[in-house]
Amino acid sequence: MAMLETHNLNKHFGGLHVTADVSFTLEAGKIHCLIGPNGAGKSTFFRLLLGEHQPSSGKIMFDGVDITRLKPFQRINQGMSVKFQVPGIFSALSVRQNLEIALQRRLEGAELDAEVERLLDFLQLKDVASQLAGNLSHGLKQWLEIGMAISLKPKLLLLDEPTAGMSPEETHMTGEIVKQLNAEGMTVLAVEHDMAFVRQVAHRVSVLHFGRIFAEGTFAEIVADERVAAIYLGQSHD
Ligand code: ADP
Ligand code: MG
Repeated sequence: MAMLETHNLNKHFGGLHVTADVSFTLEAGKIHCLIGPNGAGKSTFFRLLLGEHQPSSGKIMFDGVDITRLKPFQRINQGMSVKFQVPGIFSALSVRQNLEIALQRRLEGAELDAEVERLLDFLQLKDVASQLAGNLSHGLKQWLEIGMAISLKPKLLLLDEPTAGMSPEETHMTGEIVKQLNAEGMTVLAVEHDMAFVRQVAHRVSVLHFGRIFAEGTFAEIVADERVAAIYLGQSHD
């Protein structure tokens, strides 16, 4: 079953055709990675999914609902969640307080306390639970943001470059977090440039090039595709 589908999605910025007739399907229960060279249109496509941009034409279906014209917060109410979005991190509060604030929208009392502890444990934030969120290292902050993003138990978790700026060890740990969330039933779409991460987590990979879906397949199929290798030649990843 499709969790998310776009039908002939287009976005123009003036004369630039940045999202070009994208018909994309994200199967429920999968981890799907979106890759592509710098300027391919990955972030623009992501913003269309979130509702931060309006498409020039086309349609977006999420879990059977046409969300094309819904605002970002309405998409979140439908079960979409994105790291860095709602709710943001409060730098001047502790890690534990941040999770409490996020989770109190769904839980209370002993259930809330238990879920805070479970997330601290799961995200390896136990040792820093009473530290101010603003003082966390880059990697730990990313994991807290994932914790905030999953606090409402979304059906779909959207991650835009979740491992940017991370060490290989932190990248691997992020992959394990994503795989565990998926094992618990969450569908994940990640824009990612780190191919070790893509190999670790992706059930399916889509390659964007000049705003179009250029190739799709498993990680093994994508890395074996000479056409895909060719579009990366001479390009640095973003
Ligand atoms: P990626 O995330 O794959 O690097 P982007 O979606 O950020 O690609 O950008 C794709 C193209 O669209 C680039 O040429 C970029 O300059 C252009 N673009 C992105 N956002 C805007 C905008 N708000 N206005 C005009 N052009 C934009
Ligand atoms: Mg981008």
